[in-house]
Amino acid sequence: MIKQQLFCKNCILPNNFLGITLSPDGICNFCHNPVYNNENWSKVQIDNKLRKNSLDDWKLALEKMKQNQKKQQYDCVIGYSGGKDSTALLYKFIYEYKIRPLAITIDTGFMTDVAKQNIRKTLKKIEMINNHILIESAVDTFTKLYKWHFFNHSSNHRSLTVDICDHCSDLIHSIVVKEAIKRNINNVIFGYSPDQIKRYFYEIPRKEALYDWMPDLAFKDPFNDADRKWYINSEKISLKDIPRIILPYHVLDYNEKKIIELVESKELIEVGKADPVLTNCHVVKAALMFDLYRYGGLTYALQYAELVRQQENNQDKKKSRKNWLRLYKNIAQSILNGTFNEDGMKKFYDNIGISKEELLGSIIEQRNKDPNAEKISRNIELIKIGKIK
Ligand SMILES: [Zn+2]
Repeated sequence: MIKQQLFCKNCILPNNFLGITLSPDGICNFCHNPVYNNENWSKVQIDNKLRKNSLDDWKLALEKMKQNQKKQQYDCVIGYSGGKDSTALLYKFIYEYKIRPLAITIDTGFMTDVAKQNIRKTLKKIEMINNHILIESAVDTFTKLYKWHFFNHSSNHRSLTVDICDHCSDLIHSIVVKEAIKRNINNVIFGYSPDQIKRYFYEIPRKEALYDWMPDLAFKDPFNDADRKWYINSEKISLKDIPRIILPYHVLDYNEKKIIELVESKELIEVGKADPVLTNCHVVKAALMFDLYRYGGLTYALQYAELVRQQENNQDKKKSRKNWLRLYKNIAQSILNGTFNEDGMKKFYDNIGISKEELLGSIIEQRNKDPNAEKISRNIELIKIGKIK
């Protein structure tokens, strides 16, 4: 049986998925046109000048943090998830920059056990246990947010994963930034990798933190004041109170392999536990499943494809495409045969209060009304058969 063309020949985006179509020569919209955006994946356009200015700014920001060291207990806050990137960042700050961070972890109620183990191991190893805050009391609000999205998502072209990740990260950012404001800490650092440039490059504008993070849905039922209190309240906090919110990996030399080597060799994370598939939360995985059945592709691919495109020479690009494509097929097939993240998915269904059958039933009902229903079903069939390239 001949392999059928499903994926872009240059990156890994599948045909007929969330508005993406391959041209007759097998190339997707994003690869054809570097400034192409759609509502699920847009990116900040970065030229060399912007990159250089931002890197210069980062060096200055580090200097400033050092100069102010005697005034405060902490020089910055680092959002710490237990994944490889934030772990490496924490290490870099303490041992390379000699800057004292307060690490803050927000438990959304759906963190993986691997992420939690990573956190315990790292904090012990670098003696940061007393410089770490774990906030668990927002779990109810996160759960409501996830439920709201799973039960109300009805778009024919916008991915659930994208919606949930945007709203969830706004809430996480809000809680972390509020903690920094409480302690008068002027810099908040998040370890987003260079492919995570969908909304921000290098710095999150203070205005967005103040005015854009609380979504309109926070004023709908079942959200109440106890939920809204996690967001930055623009009536009580003014723009000048908001710390700088910086994403330094966007301008530093970022090499995923080196980061994994660092966290493993320094015994911060056990060998094999730095894989994002293990540390990403259960909600993202459930949302990926939703999107695969609903739209016929893996939403992860939008981000992985960006990583493939960012490879500079052809050989690296080919290698990167091959690796991500293998991962894509593995995840998609294990979702479809029900073996993907089984324990985590069970926990997800229990916490959200829906069974897998109910959820799948409602997805398929929606999918059947989609004008692209046939193409979506065909994509799913192709994944199941597996003879695809
Ligand atoms: Zn492509």
